[in-house]
Amino acid sequence: MRVFNFAAGPAVLPEDVLAKAGAEMSDYKGSGMSVMEMSHRSKVYQQIFDTAEEALRKALQIPEGYKVLFLQGGASTQFAMIPLNLATKGKAAYVNTGAWSKKAIEEAKRYIDTDVIASSADKNFTYIPEVPAVDQSLDYLHITTNNTIFGTKFSRLPNTGNVPLVADMSSNIASEVMDMSRFALVYAGAQKNLGPAGATIVVIRDDLLERAPKEITPTMLRYTTHSENGSMFNTPPCYTIYIIGLVLEWILAQGGVAAVEKANREKAAMLYDFIDQSGFYSSPVRKEDRSLMNVPFILADSALDADFLSQATAAGLVNLKGHRSVGGMRASIYNAMPKEGVAALVDFMKDFEKKRG
Ligand SMILES: *Cc1c(COP(=O)(O)O)cnc(C)c1O
Repeated sequence: MRVFNFAAGPAVLPEDVLAKAGAEMSDYKGSGMSVMEMSHRSKVYQQIFDTAEEALRKALQIPEGYKVLFLQGGASTQFAMIPLNLATKGKAAYVNTGAWSKKAIEEAKRYIDTDVIASSADKNFTYIPEVPAVDQSLDYLHITTNNTIFGTKFSRLPNTGNVPLVADMSSNIASEVMDMSRFALVYAGAQKNLGPAGATIVVIRDDLLERAPKEITPTMLRYTTHSENGSMFNTPPCYTIYIIGLVLEWILAQGGVAAVEKANREKAAMLYDFIDQSGFYSSPVRKEDRSLMNVPFILADSALDADFLSQATAAGLVNLKGHRSVGGMRASIYNAMPKEGVAALVDFMKDFEKKRG
């Protein structure tokens, strides 16, 4: 039996995608082998790869002049690759909106001067801070568009002038329509909203590829190594890329990111509206900054947390435990979470409140 999986990542995938991958598992389109067994240099695999890239370009409406890379090492490797490749002057601005931003900042500090120009640390990252004007001499400004742990997201992008805007979009890529031309570089670990773990997507504006990193920068950590070799300098995460392609085609079949965003807004509203009218559950996050993807919520009595979790699990609603830095619960409701899953969660919460609240 399938459960409703509210995990933050790796996370739920569309059932249609799993069924398709299952049907193609041992014999992909008459090739006589699975995608996992193919040479990444084969014609049949190149087609899978090209289809995934095309679907990504279409879904995100990536304008001309950007390269799409499929890399390994997770979003966490980008924390180092970005300063190593983009910082020609050696100073960049960061916005600190929580745990992942902090990790990006800490890693960048190993190589360059970082200027944290805005932060929401004063209120345990429950809001998105106002971003001041950016010093035009900086190498880039880095933001985390959606904060997976704290459940906040940028609703308006900061205006950076000529300074390249770099974004960690790991937990909300392809969840809402975004103007990609506003970004110079976007990166995302696949395992939140796009597929299984193992691939990191980087969308990078061509002019940034000309910022040559220091000679000592490892070959694998140079964007040009990957852009000049179609992401196949070495063996790419072949199977993950295949599933990402299926997920993106599933998004396009729903009507694209705009249609998926509409469904995401409906799902999130269902949950937030219920929490806001309840005297038992509460959301720690400022209303206008709430994430559509990760919804942390607190029970009035934390002594009931363990009961809530065990009864939810018994009801087929799993992985609702909040991150230790926030406490309480967190429901991650990515693109692939069906509306029925959110409805079932709200019903369960109502029922639990009636019995225990
Ligand atoms: C999960 C996550 C990461 C870390 O991704 P890895 O692929 O595990 O390195 C980074 N940033 C954000 C916003 C995340 O949600």
